[in-house]
Amino acid sequence: MKNAQTTITIGLAGNPNSGKTTVFNSLTGSRQHVGNYPGVTVEKKEGFRDHKGRTIRIVDLPGAYSLTTHSIEELIARNFVIEEKPDVVVDIVDATNLERNLYLAVQFMELGAPLVLALNMSDLAKAHGHEINYEQLSGLLGCAVIPTVATKGEGMSELLDAVTGVASGKHALHAVTVRYGPEIEDELARLSRLLDECPELGKHHSLRWLAVKLLENDSDVKKKIRRQCRKGEEILSAAERSSRHLERVFGDVPEIIIADRRYGFISGACRESVRTTVQSRYDTSERIDSILTNRVIGLPLFFGLMYLVFQLTFALGDPVMGLLEQFFSWLGGVISLLWPRVSDSALKSLLVDGVIGGVGSVVSFLPNIMFLFLSIAILEDSGYMARAAFIMDRIMHKVGLHGKSFIPMLIGFGCSVPAIMATRTLENKTDRLTTILVVPLISCGARLTIYLLIIPAFFPLAWRAPLLWIMYLIGILLAMLAARLIRSTLLRGKATPFVMELPPYRMPTLRGVVIHMWERAWLFLKKAGTIILAISIVLWALTSYPKKTSLDVDYGPKLADAEREYLEGVKAVNPLLGLADGSETLLKAMKAELAMASEQEKYHKHQKGFKKAQRKKDHLIGTLNATGEGETVSKFLQIRDAVQKATWQFQTAIERSKIEENTRQYAMLERQRDEKLRNAEEVDARVYAAVKKYLEEVRAPFDQEKQTIQRERAAREVAYSYAGRIGRTLEPVVKPLGFDWKIATALVGAFAAKEVFVAQMGIVFSVGEAKMNPDNLRHRLRENYSSLVAFCIMLFTLISMPCVATIAVTKRETGRWTWALFQLAGLTALAYVVTLLVYQIGSLLA
Ligand code: GDP
Ligand code: MG
Repeated sequence: MKNAQTTITIGLAGNPNSGKTTVFNSLTGSRQHVGNYPGVTVEKKEGFRDHKGRTIRIVDLPGAYSLTTHSIEELIARNFVIEEKPDVVVDIVDATNLERNLYLAVQFMELGAPLVLALNMSDLAKAHGHEINYEQLSGLLGCAVIPTVATKGEGMSELLDAVTGVASGKHALHAVTVRYGPEIEDELARLSRLLDECPELGKHHSLRWLAVKLLENDSDVKKKIRRQCRKGEEILSAAERSSRHLERVFGDVPEIIIADRRYGFISGACRESVRTTVQSRYDTSERIDSILTNRVIGLPLFFGLMYLVFQLTFALGDPVMGLLEQFFSWLGGVISLLWPRVSDSALKSLLVDGVIGGVGSVVSFLPNIMFLFLSIAILEDSGYMARAAFIMDRIMHKVGLHGKSFIPMLIGFGCSVPAIMATRTLENKTDRLTTILVVPLISCGARLTIYLLIIPAFFPLAWRAPLLWIMYLIGILLAMLAARLIRSTLLRGKATPFVMELPPYRMPTLRGVVIHMWERAWLFLKKAGTIILAISIVLWALTSYPKKTSLDVDYGPKLADAEREYLEGVKAVNPLLGLADGSETLLKAMKAELAMASEQEKYHKHQKGFKKAQRKKDHLIGTLNATGEGETVSKFLQIRDAVQKATWQFQTAIERSKIEENTRQYAMLERQRDEKLRNAEEVDARVYAAVKKYLEEVRAPFDQEKQTIQRERAAREVAYSYAGRIGRTLEPVVKPLGFDWKIATALVGAFAAKEVFVAQMGIVFSVGEAKMNPDNLRHRLRENYSSLVAFCIMLFTLISMPCVATIAVTKRETGRWTWALFQLAGLTALAYVVTLLVYQIGSLLA
């Protein structure tokens, strides 16, 4: 090193991505070496450059947006200036984003550092249509302002000239102070007077700067004052009083007001010295903003837009979702063809029920999620999302969050997994973590399936929509409360001020929107998909094992009993048909049918055995025709088939296209059916009457009985499985919430994915596929639970344990299992407490 007289030390500062490294390399070439800042793992680069006979030592400071104590990088940059007192601080400013970048520059000015601004990327700024009057800006800010293009080395020697000029005192600097308005200035003056009695501190810092930092609640400065001032505590409590006073005046913490004033200062400086030639776009933007971010109508407009997004998401997503569901059930069918129809193959069950069933149910949500992401991508790319964050900012600040946290929460209505991933846009770690922790309280799409099962089962029509709305509202309120709680206990600290950039509105490009949508959807598929696959398998195993090898009740004889009773009933039809009382012809036909059915159960439709059983029955019935009663019986069978077909066609048409009663379409279908029934009646009125009686009084009870037996068996198997056992074990724990072991079992399933709850309830209530016939399940639920319990179920599934995918993503995004488990335990505990209170108080009132 040359002698100290000729060596100039400069600190190179700037926002991340402002081109700092490029400038550093351009200045120093290969004369650099890398070390660490003492005690931390932040890289410290130093380099040298000779300029006009002087050696310049250049220290690359960590990239920072501000000089608070919120991040280690910011603190290092600040302490370097305070402690090492460099001759010059060169702040690399991204000229294309001037206002935001100048925030850091203003803080160096306040620190009293000799400052030179390099307006880097001035080529891009020009291309964007910003015409910057460098001299005027220099005058306004009271420091040298040099345009540079670091990638081409342009402006480097001018920059060095300015640096040597400032170092040798040739550039007369005039100090510029940001004024904070009378209220804050009064408090600053008061605090400065107190600080003046502390000579030790005054040596290194300007009193005004210390006072500002006190109002900003700067932990580093507070520590210094406590350590170095005799009257430290007195000063700190005076600062506290000032802060409280200011908070009362402004309704916001001083830190935020101070940041606002700094931006006001910057914005003023820029408005004077920067002309934007693409003025028209900004003008239009401003005009649009005067409506969209209006204090009065901004919020309602925002909610209106969100409502539209949800409507659109569901309107477009649901039909596709139906198609996907059909696809997966088709796929399950095709795959099961690989095995014999009756097969105990664990692999078949694993693939069809576990993998396709589980993954399919989640992938079916993809269309909804894609449309939601598409809408959000459009809103984001057009620039509206920045406004939404801006509008929500005030409200969100009340719970210690940022306007920007609102977007992940919004996505949370679709699914918590992508919502947690969307928190990446939050720069501040604490904000991000808080948002991640509370996002699962926002009621996601999967929970909707639970509400849609329960609400119609227990509540009258007029209550349904409001109740659904209330469930969502409870989620939002709890999320806000939880955020508030977390911010005031676990993750204490004020909201960090940051620039609410309002980019000009832009027409989103199709390409950009599609790419954004796809990126997120893909992440959802990949991250959720793998986890859900694993969990589906586990859950399948939990509900299918251990297998019950010997059943307590023997279902074989039960089924035989039912068949016997059925055939007895068939005999009673004889007189109606005019057959002899003891005639066996009809009975034989029905027996042949039963035999065929039980034979066919073993085969798939396309298999030989299936057709063979049919031929066998046809043959048997054919032989009956030879008898005298054959004609009557075959007429009976013909009319019965026609009646069954007409009824079946009517029912599937209604179910498939979800046709409501009392609609024109319904009436039309009804007419078509009745027409067919009349045709059947015209063939033979007496036989028709017998068919009616047979179908209603003999066949229907038999079918029902058979189903009941099968379902009871399935229910028993579930109860015997691990899931059922877990449910039973949990029963005493959930009893105070009004839940029994059946609900507990379904809750275990809901942990894998919320929508599994409905399927699980279907199984434990032995109504079979709940999706196929939710009314059946609703009926059973109504028989078993009160509406209070029903509400508690919804409440518990809303709040409790986020699903496994959410927890896995939380782990991934926070990098810690601790946070994921904390989220799991915390939310479950919260759910327990809230549901307990609601149930107990509710039972007292009832
Ligand atoms: P740092 O994060 O501040 O260190 O930024 P870098 O030096 O890594 O620069 C970020 C990006 O901006 C790199 O791709 C550079 O090539 C580019 N860049 C830096 N300076 C200029 C400039 O003056 N003009 C243009 N067009 N690009 C620049
Ligand atoms: Mg860099």
